[in-house]
Amino acid sequence: MYEAHEREAVDVAVVGAGLAGLVAARDLLANGLSVLVLEARERVGGRLLNHTLGNGAVVELGGQWLGPTQDRVLALAEELGVGLFPTYTEGDHFLAMGGTIKRYSGEDFDLPEDASADVARALENLGQMAAKVPLDQPWLAEGADAWDAQTLDSWLVANAKTETGLSYWRTMVPALFCAETKEISLLHFLFYCRSGGTLDRLVATHDGAQESRLQGGSQELASLLADRLGDSVRLGVPVTAIRQDDEGVEVTHDGGVVHAGRATVALPPTLAGRIRYSPALPSLRDQLTQQVPMGYVTKVQIAYPEPFWRAEGLSGSVFSVEDDVSVIFDNSPPDLSCGVLLGFLEGRHARKAAKLHPQERKELVLSVFEKFFGPRAADPNEYVERDWAAEEWSRGCYGGRFGTGVWTGYGKALREPVGLIHWAGTETSEVWNGYMDGAIRSGERAAREVLDA
Ligand SMILES: Cc1cc2nc3c(=O)[nH]c(=O)nc-3n(C[C@H](O)[C@H](O)[C@H](O)COP(=O)(O)OP(=O)(O)OC[C@H]3O[C@@H](n4cnc5c(N)ncnc54)[C@H](O)[C@@H]3O)c2cc1C
Repeated sequence: MYEAHEREAVDVAVVGAGLAGLVAARDLLANGLSVLVLEARERVGGRLLNHTLGNGAVVELGGQWLGPTQDRVLALAEELGVGLFPTYTEGDHFLAMGGTIKRYSGEDFDLPEDASADVARALENLGQMAAKVPLDQPWLAEGADAWDAQTLDSWLVANAKTETGLSYWRTMVPALFCAETKEISLLHFLFYCRSGGTLDRLVATHDGAQESRLQGGSQELASLLADRLGDSVRLGVPVTAIRQDDEGVEVTHDGGVVHAGRATVALPPTLAGRIRYSPALPSLRDQLTQQVPMGYVTKVQIAYPEPFWRAEGLSGSVFSVEDDVSVIFDNSPPDLSCGVLLGFLEGRHARKAAKLHPQERKELVLSVFEKFFGPRAADPNEYVERDWAAEEWSRGCYGGRFGTGVWTGYGKALREPVGLIHWAGTETSEVWNGYMDGAIRSGERAAREVLDA
């Protein structure tokens, strides 16, 4: 147990033991600095959270997939000896649209011809615009002001030629952002696509962001990193205040005070904004923390005795513009000790489901699974869900979303250190922003800043 009002001194205090904070601490320690990582929860990993099913198989309630060009998370997995295995996509998939359920094969959504051409045209236009967004300073893109003055939805309404195409975007975008097309600015959408390479790469399984899974679950990355950091990680100590002067920083947490030369705050902006700073943060930085709310997602993992859909030639993948669960994937463990389907309730669907009694919500979710996979899907061994907006130390997921006017008005304050305080967290990453890879990159960048200083 932590002694109340304990005082300690280190070179660097790191706030938050998600991937960003842990990686920053790893790099600082490797360069001979003393570090304390202060974590609010009684566990490490933040938005990564393993869950062990009744039969011992591990599934993830938070982030889980990784793929090509996510070089930093791939390198970390290798460094820690965490193996990869492919996401299961063999067989036919389902597309629910226009009141019908289509069974199809191949990697492209089998949209009706006119909608397919419509979506392809929008994709090409958006891709050309995204290619012009400088990842380090999106607000300097030619056209940034106009792009940041409208929501993605306004652009889609003005440019989509078919209702079906529009409904595709209004489901696909929440699946990527956990936010509605009307909740993010066009500029943010373009930045985010470019940050991960292309929109195709964000959406794809093969050669995309959903290509691989991690043996033992993604939280292993955080747990193994924390094991290496040993006593340098403190759990259950929410940081409440950071004071700085010429001498250094004083970080107050529930249980004590840490004196350090510098602090790295590895939190999403909205959580960083809950800490009290003395002197007060520069107004632009403080305003930024008020402008980047988290998305809303509830993730469900549903376990069956076996992956029965595979025997029927089904991949387990569903994309539905009509249901409260819009995305479903096969998430069975690699040893097939059981079958698992995962589903996401995003944006409006998550908000609606949160108002239901847990039993009603479970019935709602299972009714969607039954619609696609038959009565066996309604009778699982286990049903697990996680509403990330209800988590005090996350406030939502997958990440922070930028509405209109935020990048152009406040973007400069996202990474700029404030005196002795440095900012990390996936929301600050230029590359793979919002993903595990971006979190790691941000931790590495923040550590470099401290070392250079
Ligand atoms: C349902 C879901 C699905 C996702 N899917 C994917 C995916 O498939 N692939 C992918 O790459 N990414 C995915 N993500 C996103 C990915 O999980 C995040 O990008 C990444 O984990 C963020 O790491 P981080 O270190 O930046 O932030 P966090 O993990 O949020 O870490 C911040 C830490 O700070 C702690 N903290 C907060 N406030 C305080 C305080 N005051 N004092 C001390 N500690 C504090 C928190 O408890 C937390 O541990 C998903 C996320 C969710 C929730």
